[in-house]
Amino acid sequence: MVVLTRKIAVMGYPCVGKSSITLRFVKGTFPDAYDTTVEDMYNKNYKYQNRDYILRITDTAGQQEYSLFPRSCSFDIDGFILVYAIDDRRSFEVMQTIYDKIRDNVGDMRIPLVLVGNKSDLQYNSRSVTKEEGQSLAAQWQAHFLETSAKDNNAIQQIFEKVLFEIEVSKGNIVRP
Ligand code: GDP
Ligand code: MG
Repeated sequence: MVVLTRKIAVMGYPCVGKSSITLRFVKGTFPDAYDTTVEDMYNKNYKYQNRDYILRITDTAGQQEYSLFPRSCSFDIDGFILVYAIDDRRSFEVMQTIYDKIRDNVGDMRIPLVLVGNKSDLQYNSRSVTKEEGQSLAAQWQAHFLETSAKDNNAIQQIFEKVLFEIEVSKGNIVRP
């Protein structure tokens, strides 16, 4: 049996829900409190379009405006998940900075990337980034866009399937319809 290994990095401002999304996907749980300064790597066996994968997911410790690009994300990553929280304007504003750093590392190729607006369960009380803003930024990058909730388990699996789809397209294993 062939098992394909794919490396995925989850990046974004602190406290947007990177670890919650990762743990929701990997373990099916929503942790109540998780140290936002910890970087961790998880392996998840996953079947997608009749292929067997090991997804190696790096849950980064979060990127402040002026922080260095994490070394763990500067080489050898197949796909990126960029997360902001829809109730945190600043976390949306730093997306472009993080994207530019990825671009510097990756060069000219189309980057397998999903932009995620997390905490969609807060949309009725404290939304500060519109869905259209998220969509339009992702469109500029030719990336996918999703609003998700790790808390309500909304659209979490889709994040990983979309990034995997883009990775396989970039490797020529799937033809874009
Ligand atoms: P990280 O620093 O980006 O890894 O963020 P964490 O996953 O540690 O989450 C930061 C805080 O946001 C924690 O209190 C989480 O419980 C909370 N959180 C994460 N995802 C969601 C979500 O989808 N909705 C809501 N309301 N809170 C969330
Ligand atoms: Mg975290």
